Amino acid sequence: MLNIQKLIQKCKIEDVISRYTQLEYKNENNLKACCPFHHEKTPSFLVEIVEKYFICFGCGKKGNVINFVSEIEGISFEAAYNLLAIEHGLKVNTTHLQLLNEVNDYYKENILKSSSYLLSRKIYRDQWEHWELGYSGETFDLSNEFKLYTSELEELGLLNVKNKGTISEFYPAVLSNRITFPIFNHKTPVAFGGRTVSNDSIKYFNTKDNQFYSKMNSFYGLNHAQKSIKEKDQAIIVEGYIDVIRAHEHSYENTISSMGTSLTQIHVQKLKNLTKNVLLFFDRDLSGEEAIKRSCKFLIAYGFENIEIGLLPEGEDPDSFLLQKKKLEDAEIFPIKSLIKELYSKEEFLSIIKLSKDPFSINQDLLNLYKINIETLFKKDHQNLFNSERYVKINKYVQLSLFLDVFPDYYEFINEDEIDLLEEAKNDPVFIRLKINNFYKKIKQPNDVFNKLRK
Ligand SMILES: [Zn+2]
Repeated sequence: MLNIQKLIQKCKIEDVISRYTQLEYKNENNLKACCPFHHEKTPSFLVEIVEKYFICFGCGKKGNVINFVSEIEGISFEAAYNLLAIEHGLKVNTTHLQLLNEVNDYYKENILKSSSYLLSRKIYRDQWEHWELGYSGETFDLSNEFKLYTSELEELGLLNVKNKGTISEFYPAVLSNRITFPIFNHKTPVAFGGRTVSNDSIKYFNTKDNQFYSKMNSFYGLNHAQKSIKEKDQAIIVEGYIDVIRAHEHSYENTISSMGTSLTQIHVQKLKNLTKNVLLFFDRDLSGEEAIKRSCKFLIAYGFENIEIGLLPEGEDPDSFLLQKKKLEDAEIFPIKSLIKELYSKEEFLSIIKLSKDPFSINQDLLNLYKINIETLFKKDHQNLFNSERYVKINKYVQLSLFLDVFPDYYEFINEDEIDLLEEAKNDPVFIRLKINNFYKKIKQPNDVFNKLRK
């Protein structure tokens, strides 16, 4: 049985939420932030410390700490409950999380079997411990060790039950003969990456998504990096596990990895709550270039301020580079501005603008390079709308939301009709665009809006 109330009482909601955002004190009992769930420039996301809930006056999302984790991690309420419960020493309603912990311990106990490989890569014991590295054992070892949990291990993506061994009664492990890199949700391992130490042609392999983990949404190293990302207000993004470990060793503790894929929209959405400045290191080859193109698309659309691309000499990765040079600053580092035209045609850049929830947040220098003016762009789009019936409603919405952006504290004075209007408008792209357009153009003085609304 879930013990929801007990967990909510035991959890410090502000500590959990601050793993994902930059929270600031509004007053003694309230913290505020720009909402992690929708795009905004002034904070309308509040955390109530005593009452233990969050609410966003912009998009309407609200709830307790379990709702928050479920929403931001894209996992079920029950999975979020279990993750938080295990972290807070409460009874959980699943064997899966204990099992992930036990498997991690089992891998860690085996690490000496792969120590020669690790030492050859100059990864030493203190790093094994810090990153909880381990060794997977051979094909049937895991199945043999956890005989009673075959189906759970399969659900977690650790055993391959379809391929039962012909001689053995055991099932092959998904990771075998590999160094294991646990991927954490805060302090709980939820998935694993593996680096082969035999001659497997697939060098790196990750366990598949499970109820606690989605690759599209996760960064390797974030558990150790989030504090530094917030402090330095920058994230360094690399491709590999060992790159992350090496970077942290050299005091780049704000380094994370998207585990061999380019950044997804969900990655970027998550990252923007921690910082809007990134430095990317991808391989200097065709697939690396593709990864840069795909990743930067979202970074631009989400209004990241400083996007920098680090290029290492061919054949080098951050790990090998740091072992020689000690400093990432010795790489060639380009602001995206200087590469943008090589990356995207004007047509492609326009499609990035369409991706954006707030085109006005897109870096002006980049827009200038393509001679794009956002205001004219949207005006042309919606010219006929300005005369329509709907416009009256839209105009009211624009004024209302501008008013709230300027005076978020006055939310409580809005009447029910107005709240309905905000609700109706919130997912309508035309409303949103016109809000953006009018925000900057139509209404110049916030006080005008204030007066109009209060008349
Ligand atoms: Zn929101």
